[in-house]
Amino acid sequence: MKVYLGLGTNIGSKKDNLTRAIDLLSLALGKCAALSQFIETAPWGFESSNTFLNCAAAFDTMLSPLELLSATQHIEREMGRTQKSHNGIYHDRIIDIDILLIEDTVIESGRLTVPHPLMHKRTFVLEPLCQIAPDAMHPAIGKSIRELLEELLENEPNITKG
Ligand code: AMP
Repeated sequence: MKVYLGLGTNIGSKKDNLTRAIDLLSLALGKCAALSQFIETAPWGFESSNTFLNCAAAFDTMLSPLELLSATQHIEREMGRTQKSHNGIYHDRIIDIDILLIEDTVIESGRLTVPHPLMHKRTFVLEPLCQIAPDAMHPAIGKSIRELLEELLENEPNITKG
């Protein structure tokens, strides 16, 4: 089963953080099938002088969706992330791993929402994802990643470059 993840970091050695997370994810999930470029972006949803480095990655995995969430959260903790976001308040973070797409699965449970509920509103998610999966479909909205990114850039052209 192919899954797409979005990764972000804004403290420490950001390139090393993303590379380490990809290595740990490969061990826990299975082969990394595609990796986007690392792109620098402005903080979203909170004030910080630390810019983010973001990427998107595809993995071939045998894990179930909840096993996948456990694995990504374990890696976040292993890499030293302590603070979670609470009530929409975000913080600087060593690593954040979001589950974006799990093939055409739609899940809305207390612990896990897939596709990720904010992915189609965030250029820092869609830009790297579009590099590796422009034709992947958002199963709830019924549009491709390329279409979602184009729409977002049309509506908010001034947020493309942080
Ligand atoms: P955050 O602190 O922003 O990384 O949010 C993590 C919380 O979001 C966890 O408690 C997860 O159970 C929940 N969550 C729901 N859907 C997702 C998803 N698609 N990817 C990652 N975390 C998710």
